[in-house]
Amino acid sequence: MVKLESIDVIGGGPSGLYAAQLLKRDRPHSKVRVLEQNPRGATFGFGVVFSSQAMDFLKKDDPETYAIITPHMERWQDMTLVHRGEEIIIDGIGFASIGRLQLIDLLTERAEAQGVEVIFDMTVDDVATLSADLIVGADGINSAVRQSNTASFAPQMSMFSNHFAWFGTNKPFETLTQTFLKTKYGAVNAHHYRYQAAMSTFIVECDPTSFQAHGFEGMNEKDSAKLCEEIFSETLDGAALITNKSQWRCFPRMWCENWIDQNRVLIGDSAHTAHFSVGSGTRLAMEDAIALAKSLRKGKNISDALKDYQETRKPIAGKIVTAANTSAEWYETFASKMGLAPLDFCFDYITRSGRMDLDRLRRLSPGFMRAYDQKGLRA
Ligand SMILES: Cc1cc2nc3c(=O)[nH]c(=O)nc-3n(C[C@H](O)[C@H](O)[C@H](O)COP(=O)(O)OP(=O)(O)OC[C@H]3O[C@@H](n4cnc5c(N)ncnc54)[C@H](O)[C@@H]3O)c2cc1C
Repeated sequence: MVKLESIDVIGGGPSGLYAAQLLKRDRPHSKVRVLEQNPRGATFGFGVVFSSQAMDFLKKDDPETYAIITPHMERWQDMTLVHRGEEIIIDGIGFASIGRLQLIDLLTERAEAQGVEVIFDMTVDDVATLSADLIVGADGINSAVRQSNTASFAPQMSMFSNHFAWFGTNKPFETLTQTFLKTKYGAVNAHHYRYQAAMSTFIVECDPTSFQAHGFEGMNEKDSAKLCEEIFSETLDGAALITNKSQWRCFPRMWCENWIDQNRVLIGDSAHTAHFSVGSGTRLAMEDAIALAKSLRKGKNISDALKDYQETRKPIAGKIVTAANTSAEWYETFASKMGLAPLDFCFDYITRSGRMDLDRLRRLSPGFMRAYDQKGLRA
């Protein structure tokens, strides 16, 4: 076990709070702090999804945290895709979801119960002012820790071209649903799913041409929520869209070549991003925390332990990040596929990562494949 008297974790998102809890659990006598720029109880976004098996990592590694989080999750077995007004059920592709704020609150309570000091309203501008034995950069996509030495961390960053805005709504959707629509201005998509009994996430996405044509450019949050309500009025069935830092953005594609620099280490979105269409960023962030804690538990000194973390974790995370990038690329071209019949469009959607062969799909989604074999392109 690597001895560490003090640990500073920058960022109180899922990766930072969870890492702090694990590191403190292993070193009850060390000083472990989380420094978070936001006030307690404030964050961006609404709910997040995990694939139905994605919580298994937690069940295996940390059954106590699993038992605390899972009662707050919504679950469903199938997903739904809507194209040209037709609803198609894709059976066997289940997900579980939770409010981002609820997850953060639960992780904060658990970290504090272990003796972690969580300091809110504390922005770290200059990492060099911190003197802890270990500095964990859990500060997300705009990471100050990563920016403290970009030559060493070597981030590769570009932006996907699609635009998206993350809203919430009081309408609870039955399953995770992908609704694709064509207006007179272009194609738009909504990713929507409930994350509490009476709350859903509602992310609207479109390509740059559709974004411009709809007039979203320069529109404030309230007006773009209103316009999205009009576009998706049938889907929302009269429910309003709620905003929370819901400005239009493009999703960053970011991957660091190095995740460690002396006593500084990156976890979660500060090291890599995974497009929201595969529902894996939060899981990756929490798995990074588990991997870091494991390497520091089995290591003899900080340098070897951090190297072990990087060597073991990077290839595993890399596979999911690659799948997420492929999925994001599919969304960049969905407008060109809107002419496909609903079942064919749906087939194209499910096989977008290139990792789903026909045998696997038949095992996973026999109901969908029966319908596709009868009426789809391959019929
Ligand atoms: C639209 C959208 C939808 C998503 N949907 C899903 C989903 O369904 N499922 C899923 O698994 N993932 C989803 N994600 C991804 C997920 O949100 C991230 O992967 C995850 O939050 C990463 O956790 P993190 O702790 O590494 O970073 P973050 O959650 O970004 O947390 C970083 C924290 O650091 C703080 N911070 C930043 N800089 C500083 C500083 N200098 N000083 C102090 N504090 C600082 C921030 O305030 C923040 O609290 C989605 C992302 C987006 C944008």
